Amino acid sequence: MEREIEKVAELLKKKPYTVVFTGAGISAESGIPTFRGSTGLWSRYNPEEVVSLSGFKKNPERFWQFVKDTLFKLKAKPNPAHYAISELEKIKIVKSVITQNIDRLHQQAGSRRVIELHGSMEYVDCLSCGKVYKWEEIEKKLNFQLLPICDFCKSIYLKPRVVFFEEPLPEEAMKEALEETNKSEVFIVVGSSLVVYPAAHYPYLAKKKGANLILINKEPTDLDFIFDIKIFGKAGEILPKIVEKLKNLSGN
Ligand code: NAD
Ligand code: ZN
Repeated sequence: MEREIEKVAELLKKKPYTVVFTGAGISAESGIPTFRGSTGLWSRYNPEEVVSLSGFKKNPERFWQFVKDTLFKLKAKPNPAHYAISELEKIKIVKSVITQNIDRLHQQAGSRRVIELHGSMEYVDCLSCGKVYKWEEIEKKLNFQLLPICDFCKSIYLKPRVVFFEEPLPEEAMKEALEETNKSEVFIVVGSSLVVYPAAHYPYLAKKKGANLILINKEPTDLDFIFDIKIFGKAGEILPKIVEKLKNLSGN
């Protein structure tokens, strides 16, 4: 592993145009469970049902219970992996982060250019009357009731602006992600099983354009074979080591 970390640091030292792609795994050490993987949520819930548009419309209460059990009660904070990436942006190596996560932990850690492929919890829309809520308002409601209700029209369909199963990905974010991937000279995947479309697509694209592909993940993925450097382990341990190594190499 040390050898691989050194190789990545050597690559980054030349300040290539670096794009980081993150999945749920990067937030695991912040206490947010992943869906897949050995300790994933899949064993307890069926996210494809709970977090699908039809499932939500059938049973919004079940969705909010899921939120309470995952994001909400944890008050999750960024972990060393999020901070390492924002540090790499500050020293002008990482140009953007493409994420499938909806937890906003990259932004909390100081990353500025974050492309959210699956939206985020920042805003919540009333599907019935169109009223828009800030997440904090909904969070308050959830302290008193399991099922938040629209103040204006009493609808029970308050949906966070996250992309549910059965919904298309946001066009603008997709476009930006594509542009960034095409520009990248180094493309780093962190904490993604690379099975959800379009996650699997991006490393291929980057590779086609000649980028160096790096994988940092706890478990092997189906796409391991296309990566130039693979480091298996916890993102929160590996990424800070890369930053440290890079600093040593650059002599500060
Ligand atoms: P995923 O398919 O990308 O799988 C997570 C991967 O992370 C697994 O391969 C696992 O081995 C790896 N991993 C686990 N802990 C890790 C660690 N400490 N360091 C490095 N790698 C680690 O993601 P998913 O869980 O199947 O989620 C599917 C979609 O659901 C995501 O794309 C996301 O949109 C959404 N989701 C978001 C969050 C969040 O916002 N934090 C959490 C769960 C799911
Ligand atoms: Zn309403």
